[in-house]
Amino acid sequence: QLRASHPPFALAKAPSWSAADKSRLVQAATQMVSERRANPYSKVLRTGSGTRGTVADARHSDAREAIIWTTNLYLGLNRDAAVIDAAHQAVTEFGTGMGTSAAASGLTDLHLAFEQEFASLVGKPAACLFPTGYTANVGAVAGLLGENDVVVIDQLCHASIVDGARLCGAKVRTFKHNDVNDLASVLETETSPYRTVLVVIEGVYSMGEGAAPVAEIVRMAKRYQALVLVDEAHSFGFYGECGAGICAAHGVSEEVDFIMTTLSKSLGSLGGVVATSAEYVELLKASSRAYIFQASVSPADIAAALAALQRLRDDDSLRERLWDTARYMRARFCAAGFDLGSGDGPIVTPHFGDKDRLYAIVQRLFEKGIQASAVTYPIVETGRGRLRFICSAAHTKDDVDATLVALQDAVKEVDAVLSRSATPES
Ligand code: PMP
Repeated sequence: QLRASHPPFALAKAPSWSAADKSRLVQAATQMVSERRANPYSKVLRTGSGTRGTVADARHSDAREAIIWTTNLYLGLNRDAAVIDAAHQAVTEFGTGMGTSAAASGLTDLHLAFEQEFASLVGKPAACLFPTGYTANVGAVAGLLGENDVVVIDQLCHASIVDGARLCGAKVRTFKHNDVNDLASVLETETSPYRTVLVVIEGVYSMGEGAAPVAEIVRMAKRYQALVLVDEAHSFGFYGECGAGICAAHGVSEEVDFIMTTLSKSLGSLGGVVATSAEYVELLKASSRAYIFQASVSPADIAAALAALQRLRDDDSLRERLWDTARYMRARFCAAGFDLGSGDGPIVTPHFGDKDRLYAIVQRLFEKGIQASAVTYPIVETGRGRLRFICSAAHTKDDVDATLVALQDAVKEVDAVLSRSATPES
């Protein structure tokens, strides 16, 4: 019998929970506790990191040696010797935690150096550091806008952007994914001299949809005097010269008002950062509750991120390796007949419309030592479910080959079970 159990909690992007949704979630949570079950799709790393390790569920049952395709450690810098060494040194010098917010003196020279180095790499005068990427978006949007203002968001943008808008009461409008004409029609109805309009896009979308037409979107936003924020969480580190990101690659860094990224993906650490003008940085530091009321990035995390930035500047081979592996993976999976959708970067997403089939394939893959994730509604449209493999510079072509074989086998096995259970007994 196929075990196609869905995760009990949908990590929804839904604007808010209805009473019925809430009661369903409470029921699922209660049932999980009473049955002493762990969420089968949320795994714990017991040893290893990055691309390989022993992975188990939260109750430490079902442990497997696995090739891991579920982290966004694009450049493998979490395992880089210079990065680890920098983190060790910072702990020795400053201890483990800052114990207070950046606004209340929770900063070291490492934090300031990171802000300066990041700003200079992406071509901006200054930058403002936040404890995570999530709070960088919340802090930037809520710090800039008030309730008379409008944030215009690509419909596939990350939840943190919507949450920032909700926090400050700004009006939220969405436009169709990557559709510049739809953006224009929204801007046409929202622009007014009495309000700030902020257009937010991601440089590259994380569910395998590929890159944004950044230059066209910026041009359109500027036609309506809107500000622009580009979230480079999935493009910083491997687009543009020295990995400066997609704004740099498209030559629009100057026109983009805010360039945001997380420190948790290409930089292999933890934190978030927004680069902009010196004036906007001062405004964010004075107005953003996520900056003022939250503890600052730890010494080890900021030292690691700073060393990782240095590695980006000095070593093109990391980026080259990532692109080489990603292209190889796409070519092999396409040749094997998998539909990879519209993306072209390191996030490789074979599409499987049916949710039960998709979850069953993820489970079979795990049993074969491959950890991938399933992406389904409400994160993507109903019927557009997909598997997600995130390539990193630390993956090898052998990892890709082993994963393809496991995937082909998993699909065959799941389809055989599904077709047996669909055939009525004679
Ligand atoms: N923006 C985007 C586009 C993201 O994908 C994420 C994380 N998945 C974030 C922001 C938040 O970053 P972090 O996890 O570092 O808080």
